[in-house]
Amino acid sequence: MRAGSRSGRSAGCREITELVTDYLEGALSAERRRCFEAHLAGCAECSVHLEQTQAMIRALGCLGADGIPDRVLRRLCGAFLGSGTPPVAEGGQ
Ligand SMILES: [Zn+2]
Repeated sequence: MRAGSRSGRSAGCREITELVTDYLEGALSAERRRCFEAHLAGCAECSVHLEQTQAMIRALGCLGADGIPDRVLRRLCGAFLGSGTPPVAEGGQ
C-alpha cells in the first residue's frame, strides 16, 4: 500500500484490473473505456498490468485465445501476475 498517492478517481485499481480483458477484447462500452483509459493515464501500476495482460494474451494467441472462456482467462491472468485470488464467478451458468 502506498500513502500519498493520488486517488479519488471513479474507478478503483481493483475494478480496472478486472476490466483489462474486456478492454483488450473491445467489450467495454465507450463510457467505461474512457473511464478505464483515464485511470490508466494516472496509474502506473494498472498500466503495467495492462501490458502484462497483453503480453500474456499474445503468448496464448497460438492456442487460440478467442476460444478461452473469460473466466479461465481471468484465472490464468491471476496466476500469471500472482495477483492473488481471482474474483468469485458470478451466476455460474
Ligand atoms: Zn490503478
